[in-house]
Amino acid sequence: MLIVKKFGGSSVADRERIFNVAERCVEEYKKGNDVIVVLSAMGDTTDELIAKAKEINPNASRREMDMLLTTGEQVSVSLMAMAISSMGIPAVSLNAFQVGMHCTSAYGNARFKRVDADRIRHELEYRKIVIITGFQGVNKYEDYVTLGRGGSDTTAVAIAAALHADACEIYTDVDGVYTADPRIVKNARKLESISYDEMLELASLGAKVLHNRSVEMAKKYGVQLIVRSSLNRSEGTVVKEVAKMEKMLISGVASDKNTSRVSVIGVQDKPGVAFKIFNTLAKKGINVDIILQSVGRGGTKDISFTVSQEDLNDTLKTLEENKESLTIQEIKHKDNVAKISIVGAGMMSNPGVAAKMFESLFNAQVNISMISTSEVRITVLIDENDVERAMVAVHDGFGLGA
Ligand code: ASP
Ligand code: MG
Repeated sequence: MLIVKKFGGSSVADRERIFNVAERCVEEYKKGNDVIVVLSAMGDTTDELIAKAKEINPNASRREMDMLLTTGEQVSVSLMAMAISSMGIPAVSLNAFQVGMHCTSAYGNARFKRVDADRIRHELEYRKIVIITGFQGVNKYEDYVTLGRGGSDTTAVAIAAALHADACEIYTDVDGVYTADPRIVKNARKLESISYDEMLELASLGAKVLHNRSVEMAKKYGVQLIVRSSLNRSEGTVVKEVAKMEKMLISGVASDKNTSRVSVIGVQDKPGVAFKIFNTLAKKGINVDIILQSVGRGGTKDISFTVSQEDLNDTLKTLEENKESLTIQEIKHKDNVAKISIVGAGMMSNPGVAAKMFESLFNAQVNISMISTSEVRITVLIDENDVERAMVAVHDGFGLGA
């Protein structure tokens, strides 16, 4: 069997943890399997490198940032190869150049175009454990590029897809995917399995176990993922096409505090206004989430929407600059809001799921200010102070607890 194992930064944070990972890889190898290991940078290395760059030049180019950030993963892969070699097992570390991990040119946010399998296969034929830098690629200018924060998961999936691996295991510091964040909801339960679509919703909602694009890519190429802990032997959660529904409509409840609400008041109630507003924001690369438009009154209407907190200042500035052409009378915003979402492939064919969620929130006396839905998700916007209470209420309301 060919097995890809990806370990996050906390799993390789120091000498002891590096050897812990090395042992797990050697164990797999000794079963007769081919082992490819994808690593993140050690501990908080990436954050530290970003801080260092800021000290030198806060406006450093993205190219130089990527040149700097890709060093983090080179440190962890070479140390891992040394650790495994010291245990008497042949190992080789490779970076994105050596493998041929070809990406788009977008520094800081590159996407994979093609992964060469030859060098990796060649090393595996020599019965080496192959250790590859996560998070990085090479663009057509032969420069290093990075995939965006948390991108090593996507590297692992790209390699698993390119080499038709039998398993792709994502090791992290949690045991798997839970019905809710166990730090907030005490009786949260670990899921045996979850579908790609549910996982995609959870990933983008800030469940933070997997990089969004890794799930997209896994779905596209049919790569089954296992999320599990590097610190214990527990089974983990399988992410695959059709997950066993465990007789439940809802797989989990997620929250996201990284959100703010913006309202534009008194814009003209005529065709094209919403288009212009959101097009202006899109051109600035601002991602808009939940949108709510009021019914027109006296020729004007109000539109509210949410953006991530990082994008709030840009959003307000852009709207202010274009106030006249967008026919805006007033711009308001609220920062201390949060999203709570329920996710479940089972809700598609079942009426009453939304009502149940709203009932749970009502019972907990939590006020809802916006609502949005997709086929596998219902999201409400609430006050940030209500998040913990709301999570517990909804989790209990659907009987998700252990
Ligand atoms: N080291 C990179 C980061 O911290 C990539 C990763 O960990 O997946 O974002
Ligand atoms: Mg991660």
